[in-house]
Amino acid sequence: ATTDIKVLLLENVNQAGRDMLQQQGYQVEFLKSSLPEDQLIEKIRDVHVIGIRSKTKLTERVLKEAKNLIVIGCFCIGTNQVDLQCAAAQGVAVFNSPFSNSRSVAELVIGEIIALARQLGDRSNEMHNGTWNKVSNKCWEIRGKTLGIIGYGHIGAQLSVLAEAMSMSVIYFDVLNMMSLGTAHQVESLDQLLAQADFITCHVPELPETKGMIGKAQFEKMKTGSYLINASRGTVVDIPALVEAMRSGRVAGAALDVYPNEPAGNGDYFTNDLNEWATDLRSLKNLILTPHIGGSTEEAQSAIGVEVAQALTQYVNEGTTLGAVNLPEVTLRSLTMDEPNHCRLTFLLLFLQVVYIHKNIPGVLRKVNEIIGDHNVDKQMTDSRGDVAYLMADISNVNAAVIKDLYERFESLSSRIMTRILY
Ligand code: NAD
Repeated sequence: ATTDIKVLLLENVNQAGRDMLQQQGYQVEFLKSSLPEDQLIEKIRDVHVIGIRSKTKLTERVLKEAKNLIVIGCFCIGTNQVDLQCAAAQGVAVFNSPFSNSRSVAELVIGEIIALARQLGDRSNEMHNGTWNKVSNKCWEIRGKTLGIIGYGHIGAQLSVLAEAMSMSVIYFDVLNMMSLGTAHQVESLDQLLAQADFITCHVPELPETKGMIGKAQFEKMKTGSYLINASRGTVVDIPALVEAMRSGRVAGAALDVYPNEPAGNGDYFTNDLNEWATDLRSLKNLILTPHIGGSTEEAQSAIGVEVAQALTQYVNEGTTLGAVNLPEVTLRSLTMDEPNHCRLTFLLLFLQVVYIHKNIPGVLRKVNEIIGDHNVDKQMTDSRGDVAYLMADISNVNAAVIKDLYERFESLSSRIMTRILY
């Protein structure tokens, strides 16, 4: 029953997510901070669901003690704080929220485009230092200027719509053929984009191919007086090449939200002792430097809360792994159906769902089908990811006594990692 499910939420997980889990009837314990490893181990032994943000480390040592745990919700973007492989090997699904802050990043970039075009950062700094410096030289409207978006994914596409609404003309480059929004236009090569754009903004993932994607050769292909924005990943732009391009005037302004090395917490990080480029970057005019705040808004936090809480409840109640980062993605839900196809009790006949997480080894399906073969299997699906496989089956017209028998037979298989019977 949902009231038996124990949830531990750490690190002040967003209220919207907490409310959703409470509304499910789960027993939710909420803590504002993270927990040191030993205390975490004490607490995690008891719970079925844990919700964390980036500070809680779910290491192998912690996970090994989590005997009842079925799912982890990372109420953030990254999942580095969790030993994903160890979790998968124990049949524990991990969910995160990679795209809830796309709009926040796109809005930041819009703000930066105008701020760079009008040298707002410099004027504001001057006023803070007591200087009145009214200039119009090399200050521009953005209307009619060309925005070049590198990477037309969640963020790039949002940005495209916002930029067009401000009368910019949008071109983009992506390795995939994308559906252009509005009147945006996909160009065939990065070089074409660099040659045409007045403002260039990077929205690609961190990959070997995107490392140093904007370097000396690319700056040389940009229009003189163009602007560069990077709110994607720090490795995408070669910082010494950017410094040189700004000193030479090729680039008239830039905004960086991400850096090749970023600190784990707030503090005096941006000094030359800790960041080899800090002095160069801090000396440049019309360069907006922000500490990876692209996605840091109240709205993004609440969207993360809702998205992760939804994934957790769907996993707990229905076994759906869509969006899991460490298990194969499996669902038996028809996307057109209004209600999940389990939890329905008609007289004494049950519709139930078997979730069998198992080692990905030959011969498992034969044994599974020996167990469920005598029943009425409405739907069955299986998929694997590395060493772990995930099987779901909808079984109808069984009576309550069968549940125990099915559970015990699945649990006795040597391939077993975790069995759940949902009804
Ligand atoms: P996404 O996966 O939705 O889109 C990325 C796009 O880049 C895809 O369309 C992909 O096809 C394209 N792409 C991949 N390799 C490419 C290449 N070599 N050349 C051109 N295009 C390529 O990602 P997203 O959610 O839009 O995020 C984009 C970036 O922003 C990521 O690096 C992400 O980590 C970063 N991000 C930063 C912040 C922040 O706070 N600054 C917040 C969220 C995301």
